[in-house]
Amino acid sequence: MATADYYETLGVSRGATEDEIKKAYRKVALKYHPDRNPGDPAAEQKFKDASEAYAVLSDRVKRAQYDQFGHVPEGMGGGEAPGFGGFSDIFGDIFSDFFGAGTRGRSRQGERGADLQYNLEITFEQAAFGYSTEISIPRMEECDRCGGTGARSSKDIDACPLCQGSGQQRIQQGFFSVSTTCNRCRGTGRIIREPCAKCHGQARVRANRKLKVTIPPGVDTGSRLKLTGEGEAGRGGGRSGDLYIALAVRPHPLFHREDYDVYCEVPISLVEAALGGEIVAPTLDGKVELKIPSGTQGGRHFRLRGKGIPHIRGNGRGDQYVEITVETPSNLSKRQKELLREFEKEEEKIRGEDTNYPVTHKFLDKLKELFG
Ligand SMILES: [Zn+2]
Ligand SMILES: [Zn+2]
Repeated sequence: MATADYYETLGVSRGATEDEIKKAYRKVALKYHPDRNPGDPAAEQKFKDASEAYAVLSDRVKRAQYDQFGHVPEGMGGGEAPGFGGFSDIFGDIFSDFFGAGTRGRSRQGERGADLQYNLEITFEQAAFGYSTEISIPRMEECDRCGGTGARSSKDIDACPLCQGSGQQRIQQGFFSVSTTCNRCRGTGRIIREPCAKCHGQARVRANRKLKVTIPPGVDTGSRLKLTGEGEAGRGGGRSGDLYIALAVRPHPLFHREDYDVYCEVPISLVEAALGGEIVAPTLDGKVELKIPSGTQGGRHFRLRGKGIPHIRGNGRGDQYVEITVETPSNLSKRQKELLREFEKEEEKIRGEDTNYPVTHKFLDKLKELFG
């Protein structure tokens, strides 16, 4: 998930002032704006890159994060992973200021493609440490035979006679003249005389697109990744929609997770609990040995620092908690029963005066207070 060098994208030094950044961005954005470079994907990409860079460098908090970490996390709670998406709001914000509201009316640019969602199930470990995979997305793509025009050849395209190619119809409503999308050409401004044989004039064809998806470490169920422009193709020159990858994490047989901490229940025997000893606990990094002190009660937690889930923001890891349960033995042999009865006899000698059972003592004291 390499992030572009935002300073390089805008052509400014790392110490550039807010004003210098704004000026540099204005220059780059004007040069590569889609309205000035229709049908030029390289210019569009440069424009998007510049917008992304400006969104970060013009925000004091984001710029500081970027300077420190080399990327700006998009806050997983809101649903976007680092390195993905987030241009559309910037288009709105800055361009009303640079170009005036007029350029926003894009009816002649066609219809934007639909957004798609892909549900991806991953394992607990893949969510913790990140994962790269290839997915196959069924989607509508621009027809490669006609280049998305829907016509057999460029000679088979005429200007729409109803709107004279403007894509807009003016309709008189009382005193007002209202402009709407032309219903003859559906706003494209064009009529196709002879349709493309592959897409039958639809300009788009169904395809199964293979895409590489990189899931950053630390994601959880409910996290969404956004792949800008990987949704369905637009129509009549409209932009493609976006693809959202919705993640679900499969339950793990041993671990469960709360935020970035991992919990794991480890059963020990009555004897281990009483005498103490070494136990083996599983972690995401493999098995570790854990010293259990004598007199360990069931329900006690031991913390393994830094053995949890890596933070999505790229800094450190959560902890793991080993939760002890004490398993009472069953199906005892005759000899074991004898030994336990002997053990109990030994206990009766000291019970009531010793501190072997502080929890029981406390309970009995409270019982006495309540009922006498
Ligand atoms: Zn028309
Ligand atoms: Zn076609």
